This record gives sequence, structure tokens and C-alpha cells, in this order.
Amino acid sequence: MLALRFYGQRDIRLENIPKPKPKKDVVLIKVSDAGISQTQINEFVEGPFIINKEPHPLTNKSIPLIPCQEYGGIIEEVGENVDRNLIGKQVAVLPLISCGKCEYCKSGKEHLCDKMAYHGLLGADGGFCEYSVVNKNNIIEIEKRELLTFIEPILVGIHAANQAKRFFDLKDKNILILGAGAVGISVASVFKDFFKANIEINDILEARLKRAKKAGFKAVKKDEISKKYDMVIDAAGIDTLIEIPAFIEGQNYLKKGSALLNIGTYFHPIKLIPSNLLLKEQCIIESITYNSNDVKILPEVLKTIKTDFKIFLDFIDLKNIIEDGYYRAEVDKESFTRIVVRS
Ligand SMILES: [Zn+2]
Repeated sequence: MLALRFYGQRDIRLENIPKPKPKKDVVLIKVSDAGISQTQINEFVEGPFIINKEPHPLTNKSIPLIPCQEYGGIIEEVGENVDRNLIGKQVAVLPLISCGKCEYCKSGKEHLCDKMAYHGLLGADGGFCEYSVVNKNNIIEIEKRELLTFIEPILVGIHAANQAKRFFDLKDKNILILGAGAVGISVASVFKDFFKANIEINDILEARLKRAKKAGFKAVKKDEISKKYDMVIDAAGIDTLIEIPAFIEGQNYLKKGSALLNIGTYFHPIKLIPSNLLLKEQCIIESITYNSNDVKILPEVLKTIKTDFKIFLDFIDLKNIIEDGYYRAEVDKESFTRIVVRS
């Protein structure tokens, strides 16, 4: 089968490799939709930051690795000990894999497991290929095809909301999200439709902001931001186009005594003055990936989400992924919100 494999910084290769076979407890998915995330672009351009070079302690897998943590497709075959009625079902992959034995796993914080692996990002192959094998516990049936590449970012949104709820109840709170990429709009959907917060969304890229507006979000440009918010969410992270990162700029839009919720990734130092937070008693809340508690409410959340995700999709072929996907995503972010490899 055709697969994209990550070997190192600026070294990704389209290769023909053997089609995997589903072993015990495992399903074989014919991948239909696989999203290109900013995380993968960062890994390619400047990484690897997350992708492991050495054998992974839980899975023993090292590079070359098939990237993509946001994907799904149709179950074509199942291994021993898996319900055969699953064949033909459309599923999204839940990429988190954990040891199940450590104190974090036992308390439902699998995302903090010391041996955590993640399909397409850490110690396990992902979705930029024709067929993918995952454990039967790492799938969820999804009716709407346009949602397949958004399940992981929606889970990220649910986890972010659960982290934010440790600070205050989200209902009717005024929240500004910086970054209208795939993660930003997924988080916005979860906070708005399920947790009933008042969401505004900003992006420095006008075309992305326009698409968000079309999908029903209250999209604001920088010069339209006039009030202070109960919470600001950094869903932008590292971006070479921006002089002042969202992590710092977001603090300007916060009320006193409030919090910046960060889900963006920064792998380089940024200039943070702690007393700017101290004097206003503002705090930083961090949120990374998701865990089993977030998965539990996923079906409920999906029922409430009103966003038309089709507006954000831009399809490409796997055989053109390097040019139309990676190279394009590196230099021309204005032209898309979510690039999806579709077959
Ligand atoms: Zn563990």
C-alpha cells in the first residue's frame, strides 16, 4: 500500500509498504479521510519535537513513522476477538494509547501516562496511508464523514473545557479563542454548543476568519476586540508569521483574576513577564490531548454540535500529499482551514 513516512526534519517519503494485517483485538481500517494538522507541519519543518526517534517504551516502534493523528475510514477486516459486525462501519480513530497500569492511567489521566503513545505522532503509525490497524478500543463509530478528521480536535476541545471547568463554570462566560484553524474551530464548537459559553474567535488570517464566520461563529478581527474576556484560549501556538505569540498577546484581552487557557504548542522560548500575570492575578491553564473521561462524553457532545464542518474542508490526494499538503501548509495557510487527504 501507499504510505507517507516520516524519517526526520524535512524528510518525508511516499513509499510502497506491505498492507498491515489485523491481529488479535485489532481492526483494519481503509483510510478515507486524514487531516493535516499544524502539529505535523511543525514536526516536518522544525522537528521532530514529539515523534520519537528511539524505540517507544510501550510499542517499541520508532521512525520511520506514518504521520497523522486525525483520521478515519471504513473497517475492512477485523482480527481475532473482535465483533465481525464492525466490518463496513465508518469509524474515527481515537489515537491515544497508554499503559493502563500506572497511577495516571488508573485515575483516568491516560494522557499523562509516562508510556503514552499516539497514533500518527508518537510510537504508533497514523493515517497518511491506505490502510491502518488500530486496537478495537481506539475507534468510535461516526455517521457524518465530514467529522472524521475533527474527532481528535473535538476531544482536545472537550479536555480543554474540562480543564477550564476546574477554574469556573463555562456557561455564559465570555471567551475569546485565538486561532481559527482546525483545532480552534473544534474547540470553539465544543465550548459554544455543549458548554454554552459565549465564544468569539480571532485569527490573523482573514480567509480563515471568513470561513469561521460562514460556519456560524462570531469572528472578530484584532481591531474589533474592545472588551476584556473571562478567558482567552490560545489555539494558535507557535507561528513564525506572528511577532507576538498568542500566549503573550492573549493576556491583553483578559479581565483581572481570569485565566489564559493554552492548547497551543511552543517548542522555543517566548518572552513572558510573570509579574504581568501576578499584578492582575491571572493564571495559565494548560491542556494537552484528551483522556478517557473526555471520550465518555464525546457522543453527547457530538449530538449538540451545530458547526457545518464541510465549510472547512479542502481535499487532496495521498499521492500528492507532499506538494499539496505539507509544502502548501507551510507557506500558504490563508488558502485553507483543514486540508484532508481523501480517497
Ligand atoms: Zn500509564
